[in-house]
Amino acid sequence: MDYIDPHIHMVSRTTDDYATLARMGCVAMSEPAFWAGYDRGSVDGFRDYFHQLTDTEPKRAAQYGIQHFTWLCINAKEAENVSLSRDVIAMIPEFIDKPNVLGIGEIGLNKNTKNEATVFLEHMELAIKFQQQILIHTPHLEDKYQGTRMILDMLSDDSRIDRSRVLVDHVEEHTITEVLDRGFWAGMTLYPITKCTPERAVDMIEKTGGERLLANSAGDWGPSKPTAVPDLIFEMRRRGLSETLIRKVVYDNPMEFFSQSKNFTFTLRS
Ligand SMILES: [Zn+2]
Repeated sequence: MDYIDPHIHMVSRTTDDYATLARMGCVAMSEPAFWAGYDRGSVDGFRDYFHQLTDTEPKRAAQYGIQHFTWLCINAKEAENVSLSRDVIAMIPEFIDKPNVLGIGEIGLNKNTKNEATVFLEHMELAIKFQQQILIHTPHLEDKYQGTRMILDMLSDDSRIDRSRVLVDHVEEHTITEVLDRGFWAGMTLYPITKCTPERAVDMIEKTGGERLLANSAGDWGPSKPTAVPDLIFEMRRRGLSETLIRKVVYDNPMEFFSQSKNFTFTLRS
């Protein structure tokens, strides 16, 4: 089955991984800006990274027939440095019109600090000013519930935010309902063992019905599996979900969400 991975960090992946993903049915992916395996010391470090996201990775992906899209920001992990964050936010407009840029992300909170919240709000202003979609990172493990509430409140408190153009990622059982009930899109990040497994994700799909719900692999610098979405497809089939519902979660929903971005043009295979 053709599928789209809406959240995968290909800068941490080998070219062999692109080949594997293509063979598993991946036809498009989106790569939010995130931590690159090390803390960058200057705005130029981020400028180089944004070149990689808007030029290098789309070319690498295209060699395997995969369309690569991206999101720009300074991630919550490095946002503790407010002055560096402001320099990066001021530089982002240099890249915002690149053809594969879908919006601002993944912005969010890591340890739920005041500095992270300040930088989050300034990213929101940037997204509003340039009418960009937003992709949200919610904190992992013990900080998740409180951090998710803080993020949803900051978004909801601003009437200029169109919730149907915001994807809140890394949802789990205790956060998914509020994200969907408040009108946002929700993304489940699949990990092989820790956090959300394919089995738990299928439980959430069955419970919510799959409306405004996406699934991704993260494929980041931590232990993660870039082929986690095909694992989810396998698990959905094992549990007897309809092909229509499977396709909705792994293909139709990401298409519908991405289509709200003016840069999203998808070349359907004939
Ligand atoms: Zn990520």
